[in-house]
Amino acid sequence: MAGFRSAEEFWPNPKDLSLLPFNFERVGSTGQVLISNMVGDFVRLSDQDFDRLTRLDVKSGDGLYERAYAAHLITGATQKSQKQLLALRLRSRMSFLRQATPLHIFVVTLRCEHSCPYCQVSRQSTDRSRFDMSEQTAMRSLDIAFQSQSKRIKIEFQGGEPLLNFDLIKTIVVEAKKRSSASGKLADFVIASNLALLDDHVLSFCKEYDILLSTSLDGPADLHNKNRPRPGGNSYELAVAGIRRAQSELGPDRVGALMTTTEASLERVDEIIDEYLRLELDGIFLRPLSPFGFAVKTKLYQRYDTEKWLAFFERGLRRILEINRGGRPFRELYSSLLMQRMFTDKPIGYVDLRSPAGIGLGALVYNYDGNVYASDEGRMLAEAGDKTFALGHVSEASYRSLVLSDNLVNAVSESLSQCAPQCSNCVYESHCGADPVYHHATQGDPVGIKPLSGFCARQKGVMSILLGMLENPEDRAILRRWIN
Ligand code: SF4
Repeated sequence: MAGFRSAEEFWPNPKDLSLLPFNFERVGSTGQVLISNMVGDFVRLSDQDFDRLTRLDVKSGDGLYERAYAAHLITGATQKSQKQLLALRLRSRMSFLRQATPLHIFVVTLRCEHSCPYCQVSRQSTDRSRFDMSEQTAMRSLDIAFQSQSKRIKIEFQGGEPLLNFDLIKTIVVEAKKRSSASGKLADFVIASNLALLDDHVLSFCKEYDILLSTSLDGPADLHNKNRPRPGGNSYELAVAGIRRAQSELGPDRVGALMTTTEASLERVDEIIDEYLRLELDGIFLRPLSPFGFAVKTKLYQRYDTEKWLAFFERGLRRILEINRGGRPFRELYSSLLMQRMFTDKPIGYVDLRSPAGIGLGALVYNYDGNVYASDEGRMLAEAGDKTFALGHVSEASYRSLVLSDNLVNAVSESLSQCAPQCSNCVYESHCGADPVYHHATQGDPVGIKPLSGFCARQKGVMSILLGMLENPEDRAILRRWIN
């Protein structure tokens, strides 16, 4: 009677193995190598195991073979399934490209009653009504927004302070709702406001049309009011009152807040987080300053370097994990985006974490004067005289002419981190993104020289902090819960 063939006979022949594409980095002097496959799954190997892997000196049953196989680092020469699985996962991760331009930012006025020294938009004083968007420009902008292929669009109102032109916001929302019903394209709305002008009228309109509010909160009163001066010196008091009113009248999840880190914030991350907890917000986005607008003119942007910001970020993140360990769910929002990148193959909507870059394809910005830009930062550069990311004017543009404009096609085609110098070999590439506007603004080149790039240093720093925390099982469980 014929017996069963031994298990060894089914093992793949080591000679038939081949390596799949991966990037790697030696981790300081730990004797370890961090490896990421094509879709960003991380594995840590010892130097010796890494050496064996690259020589394909592995065989079934030795442990390393199984790890490398599970992490899509090796495959059998005749085997297609590993490559097909990687292709499928990559396609899913990049499927944001099928939802072109879901975000449309309407700058309804450049006027503002605040005078924040880090303001990125080169605001104008309140009495300059020539800096308001006209109804004609708004309607043309809506035409373009509804031409985009996305089945669901988000219209975000920005300024200056958009509530200074609230009548136009109402006109746009009512008209967009009509077009939404007629076209079947869903439309969501957000007003990014400092909330100083929030009143019953604004709130009831937001309630009726299900409009989300997004505001700025930099921390405790003295810090916030120092960062965000306004007549009366009461920006904090008005923002907090506005958040509380919006929470009670629109719902706790219908208002969110963002903070910006200034030099004065660096030693106060605990107090800043406590402020968000006190207001029962469900998370905080620890954001550095951006090199645009008044932040450059006032030289605020140069007051601290990436290293100091990373120390601030790490302290904040440790504190937030502690809060979660104590039983209160609370997220750091940038980390939660990165967790989604690392642990799922869902496409990510956040325009700064995409390659090709999210400019134009992720968001279009309609300025008050009808000029259209590839991003909010592109608009800020234009206010300072640099029109590199200007795509056209609503009076003559269509959605198609904007996304196929030379300025956008050139910037996007150069933005692929998958083939950019330094990025193409970087172990963090799958989770990073391309920021051509930042690199153009800081280095005069959209690709950028990554060893000199603050963006790159910050991305590497944040991801290596997170990977370190993921080593601890308790922290890993908390961080994984932050995935939407
Ligand atoms: S920008 Fe820096 S961290 Fe991001 S992929 Fe490029 S080299 Fe890596």
